[in-house]
Amino acid sequence: MRTGQTHLFNPGPTNVPDAVRQAMTLSPQAPRPGDLGQLALGLCADLKRVFKAGAGQVMVFPGSGTSAWEAAITNTLNPGDKVLMARHGQFSTLWVRMAEMLGLVPIVVDLPWGASTPVDAFERILGRDVHDEIKAVFVTHTETTTGVVSDVAAVRRALDSTFHDALLCVDGVSSIGSMDFRMDDWGVDLAVTGSQKGLMMPAGLGVLCISPKALEASRAATLPRAYFDFADTHAMAADGGFPGAPPPSLLHGLRAALDRILAEGLEAVFARHARLAEGIRRGVQAWGLDLVAEHHSYCSDTVSAIRVPDGVDAREVLRIAYEEFNASFGAGLGPLNGKVFRIGHLGDFNEGMALNALSLAELALMRAGAGVVPGSGTGAAQAWFAKGAPQTFAVAAE
Ligand SMILES: *Cc1c(COP(=O)(O)O)cnc(C)c1O
Repeated sequence: MRTGQTHLFNPGPTNVPDAVRQAMTLSPQAPRPGDLGQLALGLCADLKRVFKAGAGQVMVFPGSGTSAWEAAITNTLNPGDKVLMARHGQFSTLWVRMAEMLGLVPIVVDLPWGASTPVDAFERILGRDVHDEIKAVFVTHTETTTGVVSDVAAVRRALDSTFHDALLCVDGVSSIGSMDFRMDDWGVDLAVTGSQKGLMMPAGLGVLCISPKALEASRAATLPRAYFDFADTHAMAADGGFPGAPPPSLLHGLRAALDRILAEGLEAVFARHARLAEGIRRGVQAWGLDLVAEHHSYCSDTVSAIRVPDGVDAREVLRIAYEEFNASFGAGLGPLNGKVFRIGHLGDFNEGMALNALSLAELALMRAGAGVVPGSGTGAAQAWFAKGAPQTFAVAAE
C-alpha cells in the first residue's frame, strides 16, 4: 500500500496537469461531424506557434514520437539515400537504426555519450560532399539519455556555409514546448515531437512540423508509406481530418495543454525551464556528482543525467526511490545503465517539484551508500531559487 502522493520525475512520460486530465475525460457520445476537425485545425495553428513556424505545415498522427520519425523519413527520402547522423545516446542510436531499417545509408559520426552534435565534423563532411549526395542531416535537439542539447542553428550555418542542400531534420521530442525552438529561423525542414514530454500529455500523439521545402521533397520521395503519407494527410488536413479514426480525448487534452503553454507565454515557459534546470544542476554540483553532459554549455534545460559515485549502483538508487519513497526517476539507458539516473524537469514543473526531486534523490543516494550530505543539493537549489522572483529572473545574469 502506497500512501500519499506519487512523485514523477521522469523525462517522459511527464506530469499531466489536472486541467489536461479533465479535458481528456470525455463522454463516449459521438461528437458532431466537423467538431473534431475544427479542434484539430486550431491545434495545428497553435502548434505552429510552438514550433515558431510561419510557413509550412503541422501534422498530428496517432502514434508516438517514434512514429513521427518514421513519417519524416519515409515521406521525404528515397531508398539508398545518404543521410548524416551523430550517435551520442540511446535516441540518436535508435534513429540511426530506423534509418538503416528503412533503407537509408547513414553516415554516422560516433561520439561519447555526453557529447553534443559535432558541428565541425558535420561541416567538414558536408563540405566534401560536393555532389550533394547527402540528402538529409539529422539532429537530436535534446538527447534525453544524456541530458545534452545540440545547437541546431549552428548545424544550419554549417549547411549554409557549405552551400549544401540537404534537409535538416530535428528530433525535438524532449525539447519542443519546453525549450526555444525556431523552425523558421533555424531553417529546419522536419521537426518531430511527441505528446508525453514537453506537451504534458500521455503518450499517443506524434507531431511533425514540415517546411515547404520538405513538403516539396515529399512529392518526389519514393520510400514506401501509407498511413503516414503526407499527401493524403495534407489533403485531409484542410478540414482537420485524420488518416483513420481521430483520437478525441488526446486532441482535447492537447487543446488544454496548449492553452496552458500559450497562457504562460512561450518565452516565460522557456525561462522557467532554464531557471529550474539550473537549480537542479547546482544541486548535483553540491552533491559532488557529475553530469553526463561533457560541458556546461551542453546541458539541456529539460533533463539532467547524473552519474552516481563509483561503487554505487544507480539501479539501487532507482529501486530505493521507487519502493521506499514512491518516487520515479529516469534510469540510465544502454551503456549508462547502473551508472546514471536522470531527473526530468520539463513540462508541468515548478520549484517545489525540483526541490522534492533533489531531496528524494538525496535520500535514495544516501540509502544506496553514496556519501551525499543531507540537504546539500536542496540547499544549493534553494539558494539559487531565492536569488530572484521568477518573473524578473535572468539566468544569463550570472
Ligand atoms: C522519448 C524520445 C523519443 C521517442 O519518442 P516516443 O514518443 O517514446 O516514441 C525520441 N527521441 C527523443 C529525444 C526522446 O526523448
